[in-house]
Amino acid sequence: MQFADRLQNVETSAIRELFKLLGKPGIISFAGGFPDPALFDADGIAQASAAVLANNPGPVLQYGATEGYGPLRDGIAGFMGGKGATVAPEGLVVTTGSQQALDLLGKCLISPGDKVIVEAPTFLATIQCFRLYGAQVIGAPIDANGVDVDKLEALIEEHQPKLVYLIPTFGNPSGATLSLERRKRILEIAVRTQTLVVEDDPYGELYFDAAPPPSLLALSSQVPGSRDWLAHCGSFSKILSPGLRVGWLIAPPELLAKAVMCKQFSDAHTSNLTQAICAQYLTMNRLNNTLAVVRKTYAERARVMAQCLKRDLGDAIDFNAPQGGMFFWARLTGANGKPANAGEFAKRAIEQLVAFVPGAPFYAHDPDLATLRLSFATADVAKIEEGIGRLKLALG
Ligand code: PMP
Repeated sequence: MQFADRLQNVETSAIRELFKLLGKPGIISFAGGFPDPALFDADGIAQASAAVLANNPGPVLQYGATEGYGPLRDGIAGFMGGKGATVAPEGLVVTTGSQQALDLLGKCLISPGDKVIVEAPTFLATIQCFRLYGAQVIGAPIDANGVDVDKLEALIEEHQPKLVYLIPTFGNPSGATLSLERRKRILEIAVRTQTLVVEDDPYGELYFDAAPPPSLLALSSQVPGSRDWLAHCGSFSKILSPGLRVGWLIAPPELLAKAVMCKQFSDAHTSNLTQAICAQYLTMNRLNNTLAVVRKTYAERARVMAQCLKRDLGDAIDFNAPQGGMFFWARLTGANGKPANAGEFAKRAIEQLVAFVPGAPFYAHDPDLATLRLSFATADVAKIEEGIGRLKLALG
């Protein structure tokens, strides 16, 4: 079959191949990016669903507006306002997961050959999505405080990208969080260089002890003109349920209008039923309790994972313990002749019935082959202890 040229830029990810092995009986997986289903507030979602279908179900079972279900747009505007980011309901579009927001941005902004800058490493699906539109994806280095702003600025000057894509808070896969000072500088750079910055923020609510710095969107009120150069993607996936497939895009009016037009031709609108369930849920005063449980559970798992990694893998591995989110980003040091290639190590780990994702696919180019991502979200504390013990065996 003759496929479109655009497919030449992308291939099925190596991660998918690895995921096929995860069905092995007895495997402990730190590989997925899934939230723990035991933490879904199924009762709350059931109540919200029942209420939605009991009261005038016609509109939610009907086709709806491409921009989104009115009460949910209001609810999201209120939710964002609670986090210090003022947005009118008309200033956001509900999307089918934040993944669709990224796709719409690619569709609206990227022509073949255009350059985009992402963090190195970054969310794999974003690299793939932007490449599908023909982007040349350039990685900007990061450290424990997020992207290196001096280097990012130099890359922007050099490449004049169509957009810069960042996950400033509890990055996937890096776990890193951009400092407040760097956030402000990025907004200033966006204004000065007239470069669109896309802030992807699915993890910001999953903090352990203290809330992270305000989002770029919230800070944009302090940097004149920056709102014109900022898009923000949000999602209910990690705070409520990814199966609902509800996210949102906040962007300058001109860009938002184009995104709505593209969405119209793509899926017409996000499921009214799941949007209404989210809207109803937000009015039920349960989200704070749900989030408190999720934060506490993930904080404990991250603490145990850090402890076990130190105890069992010692100087064979370096990592920065994240302050929230779902991931540890680690690097094999090769000390004492232990493995330094995470791909090889992943194969040995699978033999010991424990899985993680090698870091290489998260780089747009020049991968660091010693890196790997460990998710602490889905395995409970006992499994984390057992799984890291198995990693020690795999280390040899
Ligand atoms: N952005 C990032 C950084 C993610 O990690 C994910 C999901 N793992 C998404 C976007 C997409 O999430 P969703 O479409 O479920 O909102």
